[in-house]
Amino acid sequence: MQFDGEKIMIGGIAAAEIAERYGTPTYVYDEQKIRANYRRAYQAFAKHYPDFQFFYAVKCCNNPAIVNILRQEGAGADCASVNEILLAKSVGLSGEQVMFSGNFLSDADIQQGLESGVIFNLDDISILPRLLKFGTPEMISFRVNPGYGKSNVGEYVTNAGPGAKFGIHPDDVLKAYKMAKDAGIKRFGAHMMTGSCITDADYFPFITGLLMDIIGKVGRELQIDFEFIDLGGGLGIPYKPGEEALDLERAAEGTAKMFKEKCAEYGLKPPQLKMEPARYFVGNAGYLVGKVHAIKESYKKIIGTDIGMNVLCRPAMYGSYHHIYVDGKENHPRTALGLCGQLCENTDFWVKDRELPADMGEGDIVVVENAGAYGFGMSYQYNGRLRAAEVLVNNGESVLIRDRETFEDMVRHTHVPEYLAK
Ligand SMILES: *Cc1c(COP(=O)(O)O)cnc(C)c1O
Repeated sequence: MQFDGEKIMIGGIAAAEIAERYGTPTYVYDEQKIRANYRRAYQAFAKHYPDFQFFYAVKCCNNPAIVNILRQEGAGADCASVNEILLAKSVGLSGEQVMFSGNFLSDADIQQGLESGVIFNLDDISILPRLLKFGTPEMISFRVNPGYGKSNVGEYVTNAGPGAKFGIHPDDVLKAYKMAKDAGIKRFGAHMMTGSCITDADYFPFITGLLMDIIGKVGRELQIDFEFIDLGGGLGIPYKPGEEALDLERAAEGTAKMFKEKCAEYGLKPPQLKMEPARYFVGNAGYLVGKVHAIKESYKKIIGTDIGMNVLCRPAMYGSYHHIYVDGKENHPRTALGLCGQLCENTDFWVKDRELPADMGEGDIVVVENAGAYGFGMSYQYNGRLRAAEVLVNNGESVLIRDRETFEDMVRHTHVPEYLAK
């Protein structure tokens, strides 16, 4: 995002022009910024560990146009469900370019996962015997919960440690790989996902050490090699103004050093190093463009926009902070204001007290920053307020990559029994 005077520009296009052309609310992604984020991160890690690969966790922003950008940059896909595997396949990713990291899989998930031929990354030892009933994959990976997790987004997004629902307990990891080896599985990987939006660079080598101590012992004990070790995602971005960014170089250097040391310590044949970040690639490359429709002066002054919690649910769901800009008014005097969406829920009053331009008025265009990750993908239909459009901008050009939903979408797949229609 840049300013042309007081005008907000996204990827070379005025936010007001996007609002005019596509309506509001609209998610806007800056292609060049996604590519730059990817390259910066890839170079940082590959410099210290050349046998390195990123998988993009598709759930973060699942528009196929976005997944294609990351595929073109060299990323595989990390998928949380069979439908995400189908999405990855639809953009040309298959086989070992796709990892299936779902949890609490159903039999149908397992069967379809096997048929799809992607890498299974099992979230628990209990899934393995169920999987073996349907077939024996050539390769298996397990998601390890090393007993420690961290999140800048809040407790709800801490996805490892004793309180998390994810991953295998360290005591079961050896048993899991032994069961896989005894079943005739020949190729192995290992995985963890212990952090969300981490901006502390030293966390990454620390957690790598924890995983490698568990995996190293398994490798030694069972005499197996690991083809890859996947350290998960979690590369963080700053959301609040003035918040420090992740020192990527420090994270990469420390992680690679720890990884190599532990491989040597346990005599592991050096595996490929994988990571599967998502927020880092698309978070700050996405914006949500909305409009002020009405202003109320009641107990306090409330600015009513079309950016409800159904459009961007992170603030209402996790108490997340998103910075907000007002087109043409950023340099105007400020005052504490409230800002909300149009839903019949008070959690939709998601900005309670924020310094915003005091003269905000009807028709103003607002731009929510860092909306690319877990924005559209977590949006939903409620109150007949439907999902937003998605637009990709690239060096001053824009293209619609998802239609705004309509009434037909709202009632699609519903059925009214004949007797009720009388
Ligand atoms: C969500 C998720 C990621 C991506 O996490 P970020 O914090 O966005 O980098 C990676 N791996 C798995 C298994 C996930 O569930």
